[in-house]
Amino acid sequence: MSILVYIENVEGALKKSAFESLSYGKAVGDLTGEKVTALSIGNVSQEELNKVGQYGVEKVIEVNSSDLGQFVNQAYASVIAEVAKSIDAQTVILSNSFSGKGLAPRIAAKLGAALADGAISLPTISGSIWQIQKSVFSNKAIATEELQEQKKVIALTPNSLEATESAVPVAIEKYEPQVAAADLSTVIKDIVRATDKVSLPEADIVVSAGRGLKGPENWAMVEELADVLGAATACSKPVSDAGWRPHAEHVGQTGLAVTPNLYIAIGISGAIQHLAGVSASKTIVVINKDPEAPFFKVADYGIVGDAFEVVPQLIEALKAY
Ligand code: FAD
Repeated sequence: MSILVYIENVEGALKKSAFESLSYGKAVGDLTGEKVTALSIGNVSQEELNKVGQYGVEKVIEVNSSDLGQFVNQAYASVIAEVAKSIDAQTVILSNSFSGKGLAPRIAAKLGAALADGAISLPTISGSIWQIQKSVFSNKAIATEELQEQKKVIALTPNSLEATESAVPVAIEKYEPQVAAADLSTVIKDIVRATDKVSLPEADIVVSAGRGLKGPENWAMVEELADVLGAATACSKPVSDAGWRPHAEHVGQTGLAVTPNLYIAIGISGAIQHLAGVSASKTIVVINKDPEAPFFKVADYGIVGDAFEVVPQLIEALKAY
């Protein structure tokens, strides 16, 4: 019996969430005594695949078929389930990323496995029954889910656990899957914009701004702060609705849910719909001129002040640091 960890890549580079999944898989393997195998789908270099060894995983199964060059939910789920069966994996671990959210239930259905999507903790194991925590109700509560099936699929919330390193040598094994034509009927095309900016879903630090910034012409200081911190930029819904920022930056209930280690909110009131997508961030810093702004209730650190005075000073202080 073993554990299979599906490692996502973007344009051939393994994602940060892939390393978190590997590290989580290794920790689960240490609890159950099972071996951990990584699975990569797509064109990923050997040098990149060797990185799994940095997270204590000794074997990678590489699927690099021309049919699977593009992400196809149904086909990827079939391949992951097929590989899991071939190595007798009782547990499949992946990231609860945008694609992971589509894959996890499909893999679970194919394997007849119990599913924990959005896991934020290691399992507490009692025989074949595992208990795992997940955030629910827009991160307002933590639920403990009991997985009673022998087989389990766990989709780990990005940034919920740190990837811990422990170097081992890696063996890479190629695998040719049987891809059914029907599984390739829907192709989701990834449009990766060539940009040197940090990707928002993967970001460790997010600098986000709202209507308090008055207009798109004032975003230069937000971008500068993000550059200084190596952060991604985000915004509230009205900001993207008004066309001040691209929709891809909209976070919240109807936008992207993010879980960075640091979320800096500038001129955002902290409406419940905004908090739904950001409140699981590890540390929240709020800059708002209104001391009664609801965001301060969930902030770890708050600065009551005018963003146009505070942010430039913050940038200068960080540059001097
Ligand atoms: P405002 O509410 O206008 O707040 C601006 C803030 O900036 C205020 O707190 C103000 O004190 C502060 N400010 C003003 N000037 C300054 C200054 N110079 N310096 C510092 N602070 C200043 N919203 C989302 O963000 N994401 C969602 O996914 C989302 N989904 C929604 C879904 C539904 C069904 C509905 C009904 C609403 C949704 N909303 C969402 C909208 C949400 O309810 C709020 O209206 C929105 O989040 C407010 O955006 P804001 O904080 O940028 O603007």
